[in-house]
This record gives sequence, structure tokens and C-alpha cells, in this order.
Amino acid sequence: MNQVSSEPGQSAAPGAAIRRNPRLIKLRCIGCAREYPLLDLPAGCPHCASAGTPASLEALYSELPRTLTAASSAYKWGDWLPYTHGVSLSEGDTPCLDLPRLARELGIRQLSAKHEGMNPTGSHKDRMSAQGVSRALDVGAGTVVLASSGNAAVSAAAYCAAAGLRCEIATYRDMPAPFARALHHLGAQRVVFDRGFDRWDHVRQRVERDGAFALTNYSVPAVGSPVFGVEGYRAVALECVAGGCIPDHVLVPTARGDLLWGLYSGLRDLLQAGLIKHMPRLWAVEPFPRLSRVLDGAPLQSEFPGQTVQFSIGGSTVTLQQKLAVQQSGGGAIVVNDAGAIEGTSKLAAQGLWVELCAGACLSALARLREQGEAGPSHHALLLLTAKGDRDAFDPFP
Ligand SMILES: [Zn+2]
Repeated sequence: MNQVSSEPGQSAAPGAAIRRNPRLIKLRCIGCAREYPLLDLPAGCPHCASAGTPASLEALYSELPRTLTAASSAYKWGDWLPYTHGVSLSEGDTPCLDLPRLARELGIRQLSAKHEGMNPTGSHKDRMSAQGVSRALDVGAGTVVLASSGNAAVSAAAYCAAAGLRCEIATYRDMPAPFARALHHLGAQRVVFDRGFDRWDHVRQRVERDGAFALTNYSVPAVGSPVFGVEGYRAVALECVAGGCIPDHVLVPTARGDLLWGLYSGLRDLLQAGLIKHMPRLWAVEPFPRLSRVLDGAPLQSEFPGQTVQFSIGGSTVTLQQKLAVQQSGGGAIVVNDAGAIEGTSKLAAQGLWVELCAGACLSALARLREQGEAGPSHHALLLLTAKGDRDAFDPFP
């Protein structure tokens, strides 16, 4: 049943210290709750996939720590993740900044910003790459393959280089030059396509035909990225709570919801462990209506096409994981168009934070929540600033 095997004649990087979390016991479908042994199932739950309603898997741990103490493992929060030791470029531990001027302007008690642009390759994707590439090493994969034309591509290229693995990335032809240059430097192989779905077909073929290890989704309808990588985002929740940041609202730029789900999963487990007293409401920020339409009753498996310059959160699909994360946390979806994203980015830049456009959109989304009365004067909100702005394809300040 293991759908990933080593490619002939290739082996994992010598000397890489990979250690799986002994608490990690099985996988569970977030849709139908069927349980699976620790296999690589990049299309998610086979039962739900065959029913035409694809669903991601999540990791199940036998028990989780009852205290928020950083582990002595290579990964600071490794006790809560699939791997305690593995490939690392010192990702995580990103700053959580206080923005009192913007909080006053918005009329809320406190505004924080988790600056994920401070990760080694400039985005939150490094958290997924660390755990996902460690998994690839653990199962003896020779090649990691993914579809991305932005932050995930650069991150995967860096972590595969660190691990000594071959990295193959299906990209758009018009990938922004700074990203393409980074891939070249990091030694990743680019395979170029005109259409998003063609990229996914390529990844599927490389996985199913050649035994490559998938780091991102290739299913249509879409699921989240494979579980071992997505679990890496749980550390964002742990870092925030350990640092005393337990907000009422969290605003997350969202395409297919990997980060959103990881945050939800970490916060849910912290709540169950009694380490936080309430569940922050998670809000998916999107550039045009996708999840918003699903929450209004549209079928989740539909296509929701739209145009945007918010490069990192484009795409026309919705996943079950993003829907569940907002519903089960009592949040929702907020559409911020490109003008709103540019305005938010500009306001953050005035605080000294140059972030990608979709991260700026979170600030405008929060203003919307305030107008609607969802966010009140006594509330604390957290913005997830997913990446730095210096590689954005669109220049809002020409
Ligand atoms: Zn299922």
C-alpha cells in the first residue's frame, strides 16, 4: 500500500539524522475519520478520493506533551510534529511583532503580526519543507517533486539541496524572475507548463510512474499538500502560544489552506491539552470568492476561477481542510481584492514591514471584521505575514 518507493540506484542523503517522533502512531482522514498506518498517500484518503470528495489526512499522536516546553530535539517543537530530527535550515521561531499604532487606528486592544518572512528562504513554506523533506529522506526517496511557481518552490529547492535530494519543480512559464533565479542557484530542475492543471498532471506522473516524493497537491478536485509537510505548520501555533500571543482572531492568506489547517490543528490540540482557554477564530483571506462561496453552499469540488495579482494565493480550488479549519474555529472567509491588498501592504510598509501582497490583504480583512462588528475594541488580532515582499511579481509602488 505504500505508494512511494526509492528510485533505483538512488538513496537518501548519507549522514542525515532523521528521527521520527515516537508519539506519531497513525494517520486519520479529516473527512471520514478512517485511520491509516504511516504511509505516503499524497492524494489524501483513498476512500474519500474514490467517492469524488477528496480529503486530507492528519497525523495522530499517541499523546502530546502537557506543557509548552521546547524539546531538546533538532526541531524545537518536534514533540508535536512528525519528525523530531531532520533536515533544517533553522526555520521557525519567527518574530511576533506588536503593532500598537495600527491597533489604535483599527480600534482594537492589540494587533500582532507573525513575520514568517523571517524564515530562511523568506516564507512560511520552510516549515513544510523541513518536515516534508525529512519524510522523503526517511522513506528513501531520491527525488522530491512539487508544483509551485513561488515561495514553496524556492523553499523546497533549498531544503532538498540541504538534504542532498534531487528537486524537480513544475512551474508556470512566466515564473517571476527572482524565483527562477533562486531555483537555478539552488540546483532545482524546472519543468515548465502553461496551465496549472498540467503542472499537477506532471507531478502525478512522476509520483505514480517513477516513485518520486510529492511535496504538494496534484489531485483534482484538490486536497491539501501531503500530511507530513503540512503538520510542520503546527509549530506556528505553538510558537505564538509559548510567546504569550493567544489572539481572538487570526487572519491567514489562503489558497488551499495548508497553513490554515496546520494552525487549526496545533491550536485545537493546545486547547484539548488545556494549554489555551479558548480557540482563536481563524479567518481565511482570499483574493476572490472561493471558500466564501462554499460556505454559502456551493459544492466544494467546483472550480472558482478568478484573476489576481496576489500571486501566492491564486488558484481556482477549495479544499476540505480550509473549510473545516474556519468552521470548527468559528471563523470564516474574507475576500480582499487587489486594491485592498495593496492598501494593506502599504499600511504595513509604513510600520517598517515589507511583505507580500496577500499578507497585506490580511490587514484589510481585519478592517472589514471591525466594520462588521466581528472584531471588537476588547479583541486581540494576529496577522500571518506569510512572506517578504521583495519577490512579489506585481509592484504596487511603481
Ligand atoms: Zn476519508
